Amino acid sequence: MKIKFLDLRREYLRIKKEIDDSLFNVLESTDFIKGQSVTDFETKLKKYTNSKNVITCGNGTDAIQASLMAFDFPRNSEVLIPSFTYIATAEVVSLLGLKPVFVDVSIDTFNIDINDFRSKITSKSVAVLPVNLYGQSCEIEKVIEISKEYNLKVIEDNAQSFGAEYKKLSGKIIKTGTLSDVSTTSFFPSKNLGCFGDGGAIFSNDDKISEKIRMICNHGQSKKYYHEIIGMNSRLDTIQASILLKKLKILDSQILRRQNNAKIYIENLDNNNITLPEVLQFSNHTYHQFTIRLKNVKIRNNLKLFLAKSGIPSVIYYPIPIHQQNAFKNIKIKKKSLSNSENLSKTVLSLPIHPELNVKELKFICKTINNYFKV
Ligand SMILES: *Cc1c(COP(=O)(O)O)cnc(C)c1O
Repeated sequence: MKIKFLDLRREYLRIKKEIDDSLFNVLESTDFIKGQSVTDFETKLKKYTNSKNVITCGNGTDAIQASLMAFDFPRNSEVLIPSFTYIATAEVVSLLGLKPVFVDVSIDTFNIDINDFRSKITSKSVAVLPVNLYGQSCEIEKVIEISKEYNLKVIEDNAQSFGAEYKKLSGKIIKTGTLSDVSTTSFFPSKNLGCFGDGGAIFSNDDKISEKIRMICNHGQSKKYYHEIIGMNSRLDTIQASILLKKLKILDSQILRRQNNAKIYIENLDNNNITLPEVLQFSNHTYHQFTIRLKNVKIRNNLKLFLAKSGIPSVIYYPIPIHQQNAFKNIKIKKKSLSNSENLSKTVLSLPIHPELNVKELKFICKTINNYFKV
């Protein structure tokens, strides 16, 4: 059996006719930049998320950058970010001359630790960039509450949890990324909602900031060749939008497939030696990743090798926390102040969970893992 970590081909073949037709329509129209599909897709995204404003852009990293730019924070202001995330979140903070301040994550949820967040706020803090890692929401209402207290902007990186649901303290269920000042997502092919290249989007209920972000993504133009502010060139291609229109239609059923796959893991994996992902009260899990934890780095690395030999791919997201990356080595960190992030980088392992896996493949993965711990 040859299992894939991600199988975009199986998905494409299942919806080939719709995708091909959509693509050919764009080719025929030659309306490649800011075409009708882009507008249509933004309208559909608004409906799906119930967000007042949606601005599509070139990728998920640009989405974070444009959002940060819109607030005009003074240079060297501090932006709090979790130290256990994808590099993009931190990169743009530094690129804009702002100072990333690393916050530890909770060992059980992989998301920003609320107490550590509060303890790292200073008079120079201007914003926080919470991440919804692996497919479920962080404690976003707590993040927002503390941020209001200290007058911080909240820019939520929802790249891995688009389509997930958050249960508010009031009991109301909403889509992730709709409570913060601004939230961002990515349509990179492997994400919950992925296109056939790069793409991203920004969501906000604030009309003023949304208008500014839309200008920033289009060279700071208010109208063609009238540039009000410094911007960037970051647009979603019409071709990608036409594909995303079709893929948005099947997003919820694809998430359901991921959840059913997770159920098979949970029912069949012998959990004496592994820690399964936590299911939260306040968020459902879209299982962008199915990430287990092992007891130590040696067991994790050996299990990964054993799986590879059995034809099962697995991935370590992420082997080095951001604060230990060479790119950030000039930022001084107190020893042991980010110990959960460091621990997780040594003990996490993500198993194949993509929507196109079948029961036979999943049971084979479970059996192989269980066997590993038997010998
Ligand atoms: C994928 C991802 C991004 C960036 O998305 P791109 O579209 O690849 O630029 C940002 N943050 C997180 C957490 C991601 O997983």
